[in-house]
Amino acid sequence: MEIAKLSAALERIHVTDENEDPLSAATDGRTSQKASNSKTATKLSSKTKLSSSTSKANRTRPALQPLALQKLAIANATKLSTNLSRVTVTTTLGQSSRISATHYHIATESALIPSVPRAWHLGMFDIGKPLGKGKFGRVYLAREKTSGFVCALKVLHKAEIQQEGFEKQVRREIEIQSHLAHPNLLSLYGHFHDSRRIFLIVEFAGQGELYKHLRKEQRFPERKAAQYIAQTASALKYLHRKHIIHRDIKPENLLVGIYGEIKMSDFGWSVHTPYARRTTLCGTLDYLPPEMLSSMGVSYSKQVDLWSLGVLMYEFLVGEAPFEDSLVMTKRKIVRGEYSIPSFVSSEAKDLIKRLLVLDPEKRIPLEEIERHPWIIKHCKKSTDSKG
Ligand code: ATP
Ligand code: MG
Repeated sequence: MEIAKLSAALERIHVTDENEDPLSAATDGRTSQKASNSKTATKLSSKTKLSSSTSKANRTRPALQPLALQKLAIANATKLSTNLSRVTVTTTLGQSSRISATHYHIATESALIPSVPRAWHLGMFDIGKPLGKGKFGRVYLAREKTSGFVCALKVLHKAEIQQEGFEKQVRREIEIQSHLAHPNLLSLYGHFHDSRRIFLIVEFAGQGELYKHLRKEQRFPERKAAQYIAQTASALKYLHRKHIIHRDIKPENLLVGIYGEIKMSDFGWSVHTPYARRTTLCGTLDYLPPEMLSSMGVSYSKQVDLWSLGVLMYEFLVGEAPFEDSLVMTKRKIVRGEYSIPSFVSSEAKDLIKRLLVLDPEKRIPLEEIERHPWIIKHCKKSTDSKG
């Protein structure tokens, strides 16, 4: 598809205009992190700054236009600024039921955002430090100027998307993510584009990639792993109820919010599949379920995410994926369901892993039962109560 066609397709999703371009220096050559770090960047770099900028937004409330994001910013700002000191002290996951409860308020409000389409443009944002690099461009910390609302701005280069033939995937990611509102799913607040780039306004995940935390800690304590699994299962339950299969669950696609909560992202491989079973091969090998590997023609359904959840749980507790090996051996082990769980893993955890990593997709433990599983109850009963 040509760039013009991609642009036209995006217009159909959401129309907007172009304005001043504070990002051009940073994203054009993509060599100059310094450019994006100048002036505005210095304003937004830490939780403390987030707190002060949001309380500033609060003070300017009467002057604001009734914009969806601004309304949210004000609502969130109140909660964020009043809750930040509390969150800073509650660093252990042992107190996460309190953390989660706080978080749900914010998530409820984020449901307001997609309801009012808004013509966003780059000039409306202060651009902060780069948060990471994705397939098609960088992700920046950003702040909506009028409201002070802090978010992340994901920049995708149209030419690169087109070159790789990812137009459909990007559109699907935008369409799917903009219709979701759950505390453990990264919110997409809006998007806009100019002639060269697509900008996604997404929720800022303050503690970054889960993968980095896992590499640093090597493996998670059972309590932490259980809470992450419960939150991921909760997000999956929500997705599956909407007939969406994620298909790419892995630590690299999970971000961590400011309260230490899971923020599932990367919906590039997700698929909206009302009643249908799919036959496409996608995802990452280590996390691929047997039904997607054994034969290309075999159809599969939402239970693929349960298998990946089992692989994720194993990796959280053991520090490496259960079928990790050479390419050929990994495939062979997956289709045979060959893995062993080290003895330091508790018997309750072992039981849940075994119920997830079941070759027959229909026999995998359903999400509703996961939240009632003894391992989950033992470590995080309260934090799973109020989620849907
Ligand atoms: P990839 O295929 O490599 O995952 P991608 O195009 O999906 O690339 P993202 O994963 O969305 O890109 O973003 C790249 C990196 O930027 C992430 O791994 C993370 O470190 C950082 N990042 C992205 N979004 C956010 C966010 N909302 N909050 C904080 N950091 C983020
Ligand atoms: Mg990613």
